[in-house]
Amino acid sequence: MSLGWSRRAPVDTLVSTETALEFAIPLAELPRVAHELIAKDGDAKGHVRFSRQLGQAVADLQVKAQPEVVCQRCMQTMRWPVDVTSRIALVVDFDAADRVPEGLEVFLVEGDSVSVRDLVDEEVMLALPAVARHEEGSECAGRELRLPGQEAEAPEEAAAAQVQKPFAQLGELLKRK
Ligand SMILES: [Zn+2]
Repeated sequence: MSLGWSRRAPVDTLVSTETALEFAIPLAELPRVAHELIAKDGDAKGHVRFSRQLGQAVADLQVKAQPEVVCQRCMQTMRWPVDVTSRIALVVDFDAADRVPEGLEVFLVEGDSVSVRDLVDEEVMLALPAVARHEEGSECAGRELRLPGQEAEAPEEAAAAQVQKPFAQLGELLKRK
C-alpha cells in the first residue's frame, strides 16, 4: 500500500502488508519536537518498516536529524545530532504495554491508527537532551566554574531527567484522561 508520512493508517494493515517507507519530514512538521525548538529548520530523515514479531506489532525505525538546541551553559545554539535506531512496539492500551518484551520501545496507538509522523515525533523527542550542553573540553566547558551564583547541575539530577523521558508520552496521555 502507499503511505505518506503524514497519513494515519490502521496498525493492522501496516503490519500485515509489512509497509516500508523512506521519509524526510521537516522538523517544523513534528508537533512536539517543533514545540521544543527555537529554530525549526532541517529534516528528520530515515526509514521505517512495519511488521509483526512474535505476535507483537512493531515498527523498526531509523531516524537522523540535526535539530538546533541551546547550550544551557553558554546559551549559544548548537546542533544536536540525533541518530536513532529502534524497534517500537505498537500497543493499544496500558495492559498491552506491560507485556512488551524488554528492549523494545513502547508507543501507545490512539484509535488503532498511526502515522510515521507520530512515531518520528516521539523518537526525536526522546533523543533531545533534557539539558543540552557543549561537549566537555569545548570552550564553554571551562566557563561553568567562573559563572558566579550559578550552581552546576548535579549529575544524578540529569540522569533522573533522562530516565523519565521514555514515559513522557504515557504521562501526557494519562493527563488527558
Ligand atoms: Zn556551550
